[in-house]
Amino acid sequence: MTGPSHAGSNDHILGVYNRAPLAFERGEGSRLYSTDGEAYLDCVAGIAVDALGHAHPKLVAALKAQGEKLWHVSNIYRIPEQEALAAALCEATFADVVFFTNSGTEAVECALKTARKYHYVNGQPERIDVIGFAGSFHGRSYAAVNASGNAAYLEGFGPRLPGFLQATFGDLDSVKALFGPTTAAVLVEPVQGEGGARALDEAQLNALRELCSESGVLLIYDEIQCGLGRTGRLFAHDWAENAAPDIMCVAKALGGGFPVGACLATTEAAKGMTVGAHGSTYGGNPLAMAVASAAFEEIAKPETLAHVREVAGYLGQQLAGLKDRYPDIVADIRGKGLLIGIQLIPNNREFMNLAREQKLLIAGGGENCVRLLPPLVLTLDEAREAVEKLEKACEAARRRAAA
Ligand SMILES: *Cc1c(COP(=O)(O)O)cnc(C)c1O
Repeated sequence: MTGPSHAGSNDHILGVYNRAPLAFERGEGSRLYSTDGEAYLDCVAGIAVDALGHAHPKLVAALKAQGEKLWHVSNIYRIPEQEALAAALCEATFADVVFFTNSGTEAVECALKTARKYHYVNGQPERIDVIGFAGSFHGRSYAAVNASGNAAYLEGFGPRLPGFLQATFGDLDSVKALFGPTTAAVLVEPVQGEGGARALDEAQLNALRELCSESGVLLIYDEIQCGLGRTGRLFAHDWAENAAPDIMCVAKALGGGFPVGACLATTEAAKGMTVGAHGSTYGGNPLAMAVASAAFEEIAKPETLAHVREVAGYLGQQLAGLKDRYPDIVADIRGKGLLIGIQLIPNNREFMNLAREQKLLIAGGGENCVRLLPPLVLTLDEAREAVEKLEKACEAARRRAAA
């Protein structure tokens, strides 16, 4: 064995995760191989990160080629790889400009600063309030946990930051009720991920856009989990006709496993973000950009998105059948595309263990859900296999409840 002499213990890892007793050494497509030699069907994909599966040949090639040329230089120089990906993202979206980050949380930070600065340079510095939603997740920085308002993530970290309010997800009136002269922006996941795969419908997205426009409030989408093909369109809000945001955060799938995020904005919304207003040492370095460009090119292909819609349609039908056959186990099927939530009657953590015994990896979620977030390249055969394994997990859960 190579590696650190104390390998085999996580005593020196900060204990902020409740980790499954499982480690992997290799992956290929939607399959992960554990260090003890077992093969698992991966319907977690590193929490919606490995959108093209593991070890995708094009991403491996991009990483190797760039790795031999240039990794990092700093944003004090022009970075052609960054300019190319920004142009591709703007071409495909509402946006005119992009700021690259290393994570989703940093994309959210950039979005919040951009929104407040917009009103500041508009002569309305009092507009600082950001309206988020109960059950949302925007990352773990101070601003991000204050924006989501999740009490469990705020407790013990000092006073709550001013200027963050929460409305009820899916309830436009509750948003309206919070609007006032100090409102800066609405921050929303078109499909909530961690909160339990809850989707706004198209009418709700259109209405929210209209409400923000009427009131001079910026609309920020957090598409970090639901964006980049996950719902079967390039972005989740693309399902709605007239719901383009002013600012949008992406990350997770953007690098297909390489840590990279981005904050996209219109020229108007970004007008306060002038020289010196923001920055990042690593954000958008050539290595990240090379991999992300390769990933984005694959994800944005019409055939990739059509494949997601096909597999999601199949899974939707099959899971509805599962709910009918196991009303004592499955309470609800929700989400959109390949961001699927199965709300359970038994404990979701225990169900994840039962799925793991079937060599199926699934993620947890709010409201006692488990989430399926498979690679977008999951085949129909693999989708069938996932359903069979879920069925066996339901059987096991039923036996356990009877025992
Ligand atoms: C994962 C996630 C984040 C945070 O991204 P990190 O890369 O972990 O910082 C923010 N918003 C949503 C919707 C997410 O799913």
